[in-house]
Amino acid sequence: MHIKKQRLLTPGPTPLYPPALHAMMASDVHHRTQDFIKIQASAMQGLKKAMGTSNDTLILTASGSGAMEASVSNFFSMKDKVVVCSAGKFGERWAEMVQAFGLDAIVLTEPYGSVVSPERLAETLKANPDVKGVFIQASETSTGAAHDVEAMAKIVRETPAIFIVDAITGLGTMPLKIDEWGIDICIGGSQKSFMIPPGLAFISVSPKAWALNANSCMPRYYFDLKREKKMADKGESSWTPNTSHLIALNVALQYINDLGMDKLIENAQLLAKATRHAAAALDLELFSPNNPGSSVTAIKTPAGMDSGLIVKGFRTHFGAIIANGQGSMQGKIFRMAHLGYFDFADMFAVIAGLELLLQQNGHPVELGKGVAAVQKVYAEVAMQQPVTA
Ligand SMILES: *Cc1c(COP(=O)(O)O)cnc(C)c1O
Repeated sequence: MHIKKQRLLTPGPTPLYPPALHAMMASDVHHRTQDFIKIQASAMQGLKKAMGTSNDTLILTASGSGAMEASVSNFFSMKDKVVVCSAGKFGERWAEMVQAFGLDAIVLTEPYGSVVSPERLAETLKANPDVKGVFIQASETSTGAAHDVEAMAKIVRETPAIFIVDAITGLGTMPLKIDEWGIDICIGGSQKSFMIPPGLAFISVSPKAWALNANSCMPRYYFDLKREKKMADKGESSWTPNTSHLIALNVALQYINDLGMDKLIENAQLLAKATRHAAAALDLELFSPNNPGSSVTAIKTPAGMDSGLIVKGFRTHFGAIIANGQGSMQGKIFRMAHLGYFDFADMFAVIAGLELLLQQNGHPVELGKGVAAVQKVYAEVAMQQPVTA
């Protein structure tokens, strides 16, 4: 109709937390002042708390891929043997990255929508005792599938290899016990569950990983984690930090930590569950039915319907941006995000819109059936108790 609110409903960037966005306006500060050092220290402390780790946690000025690259360039040397678990576009990014840096990669590939099993990883590590690192995605955002991080961590922990988890959409959507499970490197990004714009990458580093860093002779300069850690310990950073984002992060982390990371995770999990129920009610198939994660739900469009029609329909009718499939999945699936600042009111609206768009494109729909499935999930978990925050 005539007024269409802009709604960013993709799995990154995600909807912004308004107080964090407003705080960004106060970014006319200098980064080498006591005022700013305080903000940075508070953000770093808040991040450690949100990630739930006692490992060193660093913030880099980059999108998430910057921290992915740092995890390749800071802990290995050329020709080191590593294992990459790849079941989607982001797994492929790991494979391309480690190869670009001259690592000797064993790439365990599974079809899109599936995941690499802990058993397959265990067999590979048994046959290759010289592997120095294992790379995975906690949540493969391109397919909506989630790896069994806990089981895989348990396997890697028994070997000399370090376990490197791209948790960019895993953080805030699934439990990730970094210290308890032994996640040596855990990577996050500001524009996912952290509710602020793209521009910061997060990386936690275990003592086991620091030991590898001491022997690594890969060329690196901007993303030198050892130097970054030294600077961070003094409350500073090697380069000009992204001041506006750090101010916003501080505010968003306050919100997330007050709420509790477990509640943020539960929120995403319930929205994901509601989406799966809505899909079933509308006779739609999930793209990753066996290992669905909670960051995003990938749904197949009915046979013969281009998912681009749904994506475009959301934009033109409702001002909403939802995600199409990536690569060969484009046109076949669309993806509904749940991570970060999403709530059930978003969900009611998005499923109601979806019903209308499906109907418009020839898929028989009883209007309201998907919405009712979402309402039912909400009624079961939340109508009896006040919603917090
Ligand atoms: C968003 C995302 C990334 C990072 O992409 P950037 O564009 O560099 O922020 C990496 N891995 C996963 C699983 C993601 O969802």
